[in-house]
Amino acid sequence: MKNLARPSSSAQGNRRSIPDAVWKGVWACKVQPKIRNFLWRACSNGLASGEGLSRRNVPVDPHCSRCGMLEDTDHILLDCPFARAVWFASSLSFHPPIVEPQISKAIQGWNSLISSNKRLGNDTFGLAAQICWSLWRARNDVLLGGKHLNPVEVSRQAEAEFEEFKTLSSHHSSFVPATGVPLPIQHWKPPAPLAFKLNVNASITEDKGGVGLALRDCNGLLVFAVSEPISKYSILLSEALAVRTGLL
Ligand SMILES: [Zn+2]
Repeated sequence: MKNLARPSSSAQGNRRSIPDAVWKGVWACKVQPKIRNFLWRACSNGLASGEGLSRRNVPVDPHCSRCGMLEDTDHILLDCPFARAVWFASSLSFHPPIVEPQISKAIQGWNSLISSNKRLGNDTFGLAAQICWSLWRARNDVLLGGKHLNPVEVSRQAEAEFEEFKTLSSHHSSFVPATGVPLPIQHWKPPAPLAFKLNVNASITEDKGGVGLALRDCNGLLVFAVSEPISKYSILLSEALAVRTGLL
């Protein structure tokens, strides 16, 4: 269903409304320079999203090719059901806010982790930035006729590329990868041998909600992940419905 009524949080945002700490965090993020530049453009409302191009009078469809909602930067990287499934499938198990998630606020949250634990904060922020980059690349692949990856594949791709970057960086700088210490966001434990583990999460407000689920095997590998909008249910009932969906 098309949605032209929802105001664009990207369009409303601008450099002056974003704290300096966010900009400093973007340029200090431990990722490839092209990804730092990408984050800066995402916060600067400078990505060629459907909404961004339409605002510049470029004759394109401003809606998301995956779900039909207005496609601004925040939608591509956080709010689209596809993006939510990718985040949920990742080792961060990040759940973007249900109401008007904003990439600048997400960056502020990831960057703030560095002050409490520098190494783990850098790893979390770096992987989150890599996932944003992979989401943008997956979106462009769909529009430009490239390879269509599912949420699990996008998540795996981002984690593999970030690990590769850390390995290469460790040979050339003082950036040291984390070793066996729990991530500050969430710590996932694999199930017993030959078993599967289904993780579910639901969030609701008065008029909007979403539920996600991820099934992993005993090696921690994702079998599938999905995120869908829900309404009118309690969190407990929503999570029960997610479990039922995962078992079908
Ligand atoms: Zn979408």
